[in-house]
Amino acid sequence: MDEKPQSVSRRRLLKKAAAASGAALAAPAAALAGQQRSTSPARKFRAWVSRGTGTGRTTLQELTLRPISGRQIVVRTEATNLCYSNTTTVLGLPGMFAGPLTRMAIIDGHGGVGVVEAIGPEVRRVQIGDRVCVSGTPQCGNCYQCLRGRADMCQFLGRQGPNDLVPIADMRDGAPVYASSHIGGLAELMVTFEEWVVPVFTKASAVDLGMVCSCVAVAGLGTATSQALASIAPGSTAAIVGCGPLGLSAVQGARIAGASKIIAIDPIKTRRDLALKVGATDVLDPNVEGDKLVGILAQADVARHGDDSRTGQVVEQISEN
Ligand SMILES: [Zn+2]
Ligand SMILES: [Zn+2]
Repeated sequence: MDEKPQSVSRRRLLKKAAAASGAALAAPAAALAGQQRSTSPARKFRAWVSRGTGTGRTTLQELTLRPISGRQIVVRTEATNLCYSNTTTVLGLPGMFAGPLTRMAIIDGHGGVGVVEAIGPEVRRVQIGDRVCVSGTPQCGNCYQCLRGRADMCQFLGRQGPNDLVPIADMRDGAPVYASSHIGGLAELMVTFEEWVVPVFTKASAVDLGMVCSCVAVAGLGTATSQALASIAPGSTAAIVGCGPLGLSAVQGARIAGASKIIAIDPIKTRRDLALKVGATDVLDPNVEGDKLVGILAQADVARHGDDSRTGQVVEQISEN
């Protein structure tokens, strides 16, 4: 038998799906012959660079981009998403994790949206000119976890420590600068790897897209919709405890998953109102319900609906945020 394995291009599939759904190609690929694959040397860009300890550790700096190689990608940032877990590090607040990373000059930020400006010679997923989401988590598509449907645990996720980061730029004082989690969203340019990048073909604004692709959506919406984590059966009842950015994403995830009753629980009225707008069918104020809350949820059959207690698991996971 001389059968060649069929190669499937994720980029082509996404583009086809977008075309089928009538979406316009907001940023068509510049697939021109002889296209320049990398930026000119000494490309300057601005970034919020964090270094040292204490408040004021993050300053706006003009950096010089280093040449890229392999599967690296340079993305011109249109929008970035903010994340609670960046707050203490960026602002240098008490409780900040003080490890070897604090001695390095690092661009924080957990992802964003932008246009590909340069690609390394091994990049296959995107082309220069493509609009992309830089995700908060990688998906290589080849490792054990990715192949068994657990891209949330992709092998690359564990390779973000101080010894895994590569310098992407230089400060004026010559210090090498690194991108946190191989992303570094708080900058005019994100230098990442293709495992973190998903081409998008849509007319949605960069800000809207930035939120959909953010780590908030990955955690909230993903938790509620991922079959591997906590599938919510169509017609079931889901309860979301805490309706901050994560919880509101989970409310939308529960709606997408087809839950017929979605109970959103939060002491803040504006959050409860928002929850109703994005898919909650019921809202509860824990300060009003007090000890009765657990009984109300038990009566709504939250934890027992479906084939096991996975819906309850969502409640548990979200409540931590
Ligand atoms: Zn984050
Ligand atoms: Zn993987």
